[in-house]
Amino acid sequence: MTVTAGTPAPPAVRPYESYVYAYPHKTAYRPLEDRPSLRALWAAEPKDALSLYLHIPFCEVRCGFCNLFTRIGAPEELTTRYLDALERQADSVRDALGDEQPVRFAAAAFGGGTPTFLTAGELERLCDTAEKRMGADLGAVPLSVETSPATATADRLAVLADRGTTRISIGVQSFVDEEARAAVRPQRRADVEAALGRIRDARIPVLNIDLIYGIDGQTERSWLASLDAALAWRPEELYLYPLYVRPLTGLHRLGPAVTGPEARALEDAAWDEQRLRLYAVGRDHLLSHGYEQVSMRMFRRADAPREQEGPEDYACQTDGMIGLGCGARSYTSALHYSFDYAVEMREIRSIIDRFTATEDFSRAEVGRYVDADEARRRHLLQSLLQAAGLPVADYRARFGTDPGADFPAELAGFAARGWLDASAPDGLLRLSPSGLAHSDALGPALFSPGVRAAMAAYERK
Ligand code: SF4
Repeated sequence: MTVTAGTPAPPAVRPYESYVYAYPHKTAYRPLEDRPSLRALWAAEPKDALSLYLHIPFCEVRCGFCNLFTRIGAPEELTTRYLDALERQADSVRDALGDEQPVRFAAAAFGGGTPTFLTAGELERLCDTAEKRMGADLGAVPLSVETSPATATADRLAVLADRGTTRISIGVQSFVDEEARAAVRPQRRADVEAALGRIRDARIPVLNIDLIYGIDGQTERSWLASLDAALAWRPEELYLYPLYVRPLTGLHRLGPAVTGPEARALEDAAWDEQRLRLYAVGRDHLLSHGYEQVSMRMFRRADAPREQEGPEDYACQTDGMIGLGCGARSYTSALHYSFDYAVEMREIRSIIDRFTATEDFSRAEVGRYVDADEARRRHLLQSLLQAAGLPVADYRARFGTDPGADFPAELAGFAARGWLDASAPDGLLRLSPSGLAHSDALGPALFSPGVRAAMAAYERK
């Protein structure tokens, strides 16, 4: 795609609009008036390579940057009631999938929240739910589990390793204690290091470490110190996340450091610059230490095993997903659905309470239908945001059209900003290094007007 001389320079955009890890975003979901039955929804879907996701909405603390669906602690046997409900839901969903065609899970993940908030015995029960009720063969497929430094205990890790976990992902965010405190995630480096030691002792094949850049007070030097502390464990994967301050989170409640529109604009610009700079420093550091870039956030050690990739990398444009638990999404080709969604703690607690009291899980309650245009956008978005890019032939084989014909204005806009790699081989649509760095601006630019309007109209709670 070429831009002719004299083309006006595109207007400036902010590089950090939103992280597009799923499209459409949950804030575009709405209560489904017809409450379609799961049996009808799944009847004509391919079911031989599903992915299974189990959501555990509990954490020991609420990190200041976190807007995930999770609550602090679990009083009065709440985890037991939650696991009871999860079993009822699993029975209902497995029944809805039917036995007319083979049902097979090709990948599984436990996320949250913090799945290892559960005790070792409860984790056994969670694995049993996945295996005995859903029929997932955890010992034979990639199984990814999220953990935290305080909950990655030897007994829990032993259960997870024994039940077939192939990838464990730990949110460290920073190895510098003051930065962890500034991100409202109080932890001590010594505890983080001890947890990493226990994880390596458990011999789970893939270790992923999450780190955050853009924290108040973080410098290139302190960022490199965190990266080096992580590299000392030779993790198979590293995710580098830009810090966001999203509505209703702890950091958002702290308020901006300055007031007045001009001062705020200057502060925002300085923060964008800090994040772009630290991103480039982190990327270059990892590339020079034997890692390859998979997406803006994800880096993989070049010699790491390939068959254990995380759930988000599992052919995410096309495959069906079954999510169990009240923060989990499920995808058929026509409908994305979930439970109600919230960020604010009181709302989350009441949604979890409603989930644990639910007896009938046979219908989809909240979601968004995905039409042909949305399916094309989703495919383009999720492929283009991978460093490997989008083979145009794959898109054509699925939709019968070319992305250039379906999204001419969007792609011309990306080319004008220098976000597309002009040196990519014919037939490959690939981001340039600048395009990858601006993934969080580029992704939202591909949202449909309908999804954009629904997200804007969503009342945050
Ligand atoms: S970032 Fe992770 S550990 Fe922190 S509150 Fe969110 S889900 Fe829990």
